[in-house]
Amino acid sequence: MSLDRCRSAALQRIEAQLTEASWEEEGIRAVLLVGVNRLRQLNLSHGYRRVDRLLEALAQRVEGFVSGKGIAERIGNADYLIVLQGIRNPGHARLALARLHALLSAVYAIDGETHHLSLAIGAALFDPAQAPADLESCLRRLERALLNARQTPEGYAFDGDRQTVEEGIIDWDLEHDLRQAADRGQLAMYYQPQQRLDDGRLHGVEALIRWRNGAQGFVRPDLFIPIAERSTLIEEITTWTLNAVMREMASRNGIGHVSINLSAQLLQRQDIVDDVRAALAIWGFDPARLVLEVTESAVISRLDQAVDTLQALRELGIGLSIDDFGTGYSTMTYLRRIPACELKIDRSFIANMTGQTMDAHIVKSLILMARGLQMRVVAEGVEDEETRALLRDMGCELIQGYLLARPMPLAELDGWLEDASGRQ
Ligand code: C2E
Ligand code: CA
Ligand code: CA
Repeated sequence: MSLDRCRSAALQRIEAQLTEASWEEEGIRAVLLVGVNRLRQLNLSHGYRRVDRLLEALAQRVEGFVSGKGIAERIGNADYLIVLQGIRNPGHARLALARLHALLSAVYAIDGETHHLSLAIGAALFDPAQAPADLESCLRRLERALLNARQTPEGYAFDGDRQTVEEGIIDWDLEHDLRQAADRGQLAMYYQPQQRLDDGRLHGVEALIRWRNGAQGFVRPDLFIPIAERSTLIEEITTWTLNAVMREMASRNGIGHVSINLSAQLLQRQDIVDDVRAALAIWGFDPARLVLEVTESAVISRLDQAVDTLQALRELGIGLSIDDFGTGYSTMTYLRRIPACELKIDRSFIANMTGQTMDAHIVKSLILMARGLQMRVVAEGVEDEETRALLRDMGCELIQGYLLARPMPLAELDGWLEDASGRQ
């Protein structure tokens, strides 16, 4: 049977459970949506075969749990819909949810190796004595609860829990669309050149993500990245980005350094190190060319956790850059602990350098600070020749900004590089 038909049959069975109230049954029903987080990354790091075995083991645990209490239907690769009957009250439902989450998250032993599955469960309660629930609205409630669950430390949540309901509704469509953006080919990487000020040559490029959404047109990354950061979506986007950039840049050695932005969130997870390592291996990408940018404020606010991850990344042989430098009020003492090799001065200081002498002083002292820490400096947001000249006088090594070029898609970058080499 095709997946679609299996799924619609499964949904019908769930619907029957929800709408057919049986007289002898007591209590309310809890409907649960179980989803495995980071399935793509799991496939990437463990291979399909092993992940299939893991999912089989998961299926057995789900079956074991519902046996005699309700039904479970697999509605996606690693998604389950579960209806639990005879729930006495909301507290009872919460207890069941906590037990299920603990059971499914407990360590799995496959071929003598231990594995963990990270999963989230969204739940909603229905009273069979009330009007029958319709499946569509039930699924919407569950999806929303699941998104919420992904942001809670427990990993499970009920529809209507502590969540900022309005916020949820505003972000709902965007988040939903964003989930499908990569599969629909709507994400693309743009590249913005960086220039060396001593000899005017190309130093490398910064990769910046673009989302072209059918209905909305371009959606700005500073709008959708923060939304992605509130769920595990950011992990999927980051994996996509790492692979897209390395695939496009692996054979373009002449471009030199390639910088990728890394969300602060990911610094709390060691998985990011595995993701970067895997992408480097897949594309045969020279680690010496890769630079990961993390914002200053993000690193400082979680210094202890971040330092370990940054150190592990550094050990892969890649470079680390502190982005938006100057906005996070950090001192040399803090910065000394971060194993970065580059500082990027925030464009808000660069924009007013030539007009406001205060900003020029700040930029000058940031450059001196970077030098003291033996890091190279990039000035971003350079839009005019006067600013470039001033930065060169101050001893800034690299610039990036509209003066050189706006971020552009790969096809355009190739042409730009040709023109640039002709100009030299
Ligand atoms: P950012 O890392 O500070 O990126 C620099 C931003 O400055 C980019 O905006 C770039 O287009 C813009 N810019 C470059 N030169 C100039 C200039 O001369 N003048 C002005 N006014 N702006 C300039 P963009 O591409 O819209 O990205 C915005 C932010 O979104 C980025 O700030 C970064 O924080 C985030 N972002 C972009 N791509 C990714 C990604 O792949 N992953 C993650 N996690 N974040 C990303
Ligand atoms: Ca950046
Ligand atoms: Ca920046």
